[in-house]
Amino acid sequence: MKQISLWGLIVIPFALLATLGGVTVYLFSTVTISNVSDNVGTHYMQEIEMRVYDRVVEFMEPLDTIVQINRNAFSHHPELLEDLDFVGGRLYEQAVPYPYMTFISLATSDGRYVNSTRDPFGNLDDHHLANNYMSEPRTLRAYEYDPVHYLGGHITSEPEYPNYDPRKRPFYQDALKQQGMTWSRINPYYGYKSLGVGLSTPVYDAKGTLLGVTATSVALVSLDKYLQSIELVDNSYVFLTEQNGNLIATSNNEQLYSKTNGTAERTSLSSHSNNIFQSAGQQLTEGSHHLEVDGERFLYNVRPIELPYGETWYVGVLIPESYYKNILHEYSQAVIFIVLVIFVSIALAGSLIARFIGQPILQLNDAVNSNSLERIRTIPQPLSPVREVQTLAKGLQNMAFKLSDIMQNLEQKVAQRTSHLKDENDILHEQSTTDELTALYNRRGFNLVSEQALFYAKQNQQPFCIVLCDIDHFKLVNDTLGHTVGDQVLVNVAHVLKQHFRGHDIVARYGGEEFMMITVGMNQQDVIARLHQVRQTLIDQPAHPEVVLTLSYGVTYLNDAHGITLDELIHGVDGKLYQAKNTGRDKIVE
Ligand code: GH3
Ligand code: MG
Ligand code: MG
Repeated sequence: MKQISLWGLIVIPFALLATLGGVTVYLFSTVTISNVSDNVGTHYMQEIEMRVYDRVVEFMEPLDTIVQINRNAFSHHPELLEDLDFVGGRLYEQAVPYPYMTFISLATSDGRYVNSTRDPFGNLDDHHLANNYMSEPRTLRAYEYDPVHYLGGHITSEPEYPNYDPRKRPFYQDALKQQGMTWSRINPYYGYKSLGVGLSTPVYDAKGTLLGVTATSVALVSLDKYLQSIELVDNSYVFLTEQNGNLIATSNNEQLYSKTNGTAERTSLSSHSNNIFQSAGQQLTEGSHHLEVDGERFLYNVRPIELPYGETWYVGVLIPESYYKNILHEYSQAVIFIVLVIFVSIALAGSLIARFIGQPILQLNDAVNSNSLERIRTIPQPLSPVREVQTLAKGLQNMAFKLSDIMQNLEQKVAQRTSHLKDENDILHEQSTTDELTALYNRRGFNLVSEQALFYAKQNQQPFCIVLCDIDHFKLVNDTLGHTVGDQVLVNVAHVLKQHFRGHDIVARYGGEEFMMITVGMNQQDVIARLHQVRQTLIDQPAHPEVVLTLSYGVTYLNDAHGITLDELIHGVDGKLYQAKNTGRDKIVE
């Protein structure tokens, strides 16, 4: 199996994670965020536009509905025109649900006029009727609404307009000219700080005879208030204009017309006091644009709102680029922060793993590789707070202790065994070099020690003497007294010889009843004297009363053994012994 180091295992995944994280953040911040950046502003603008669009459509819808209902009602029931009090009540009731439905009116072709009048600012208390047929000369006066008689009491606080002929008013004339639904010009209401717009249509009977004109008018201040109520991000703008750029409503709380010499002058985008509106006026075309005003960049979008009967308004939204750039900046900062937190967490996890697992395992590894039980035994405890690593360390240490004990025991046992073997070896050695019967060196023992003695003598220039002796007529002993006695005799001879040649002298049983002696450093007379003492002792202390025992000797004495071998010496004394035997026995041949 392929091996990988512990550090590799910790560092490689961490490096991979870091790379992956880096690439992700890079892609995220460059590709994703730039895409999001392009979309955030557009989406925000579309959201605002949609709200304005819905509001305008919803706001303008009743205008059309009411005009159509009235036109159809009067057209099919021309007799209603004979009871304008009732008509007035009906118009009043139609306006009730719509606080900004300023006027709902009917002007007859014979110049009579009745309407429902509401305060343009949606003031619920100020809703009444007005007509021009109750008093001459066709004075337009205000009346209370009466749920029973429709026309209530005369309201004296309201202004009156004598000789009011609706047929001279633009709503009437425009409708006739158009012969159908006609939008009025957007103008400020007389006496009120609000723009208004109206929709009027001629009413014909079944034969196509003109009966009059019915109209509705709505106060646009409501839309202006609505645009101002939208919570926009800082330095953003919303406006509603006609196609020619004349403003209907804005998110700014500024008057949308000015009056000079009693003539109202509408404010257009291009003539607005705010230079951002002015710039927007330069590019009042559908779609999205980029504007730069006083160093500030804006995203600017214009969307048309199609009203019925060919009227089109525009809703325009401007938001500063800094807004969505900032959002994205904060967003990418948040992403970077999160990624950093993830990085730090991974680093922390890595270093914790390294500290609590990696380091202890490396320590264990070093200790094990050092081939020293001592290193393993002295591993600091506890090594790691990680349970498994600690168990491993502890287990290893216990094993090291046990192994040390076992080895110590083994060493003791080996020492004991070695000493035992040595003893046995010594015994075997002794047995192999000792004659069983006499306890003297046997021939093998003799060979070993005689060489050493000769070497010693040569080294130290000591006199060296070798004696070979053989029991005379020993066969006779065996034959006459038996082997057992023969053995006793042999033991006795050995004992006597050993009595006279001790210490460093060598006494060996060289053959059946042949003995070999070696002395080093003893003078020749002493050797001969001792041989005589042996002879005498054997006579004085016989092994058996019936046996008189003598020995024949071959002796070689050298003051300096230099240059001579043991074989030559043995050969020499053997010859001398032979000579002693052949010349009568019981004698020493030197
Ligand atoms: P010589 O004077 O010529 O040496 O005569 P000998 O009888 O001693 O000579 P020989 O070598 O013919 O006889 C030696 C005898 O020693 C023969 C053998 O039976 C006997 N012998 C050798 N070893 C032992 C032993 O261990 N025990 C006993 N009892 N007898 C032994
Ligand atoms: Mg013999
Ligand atoms: Mg003999």
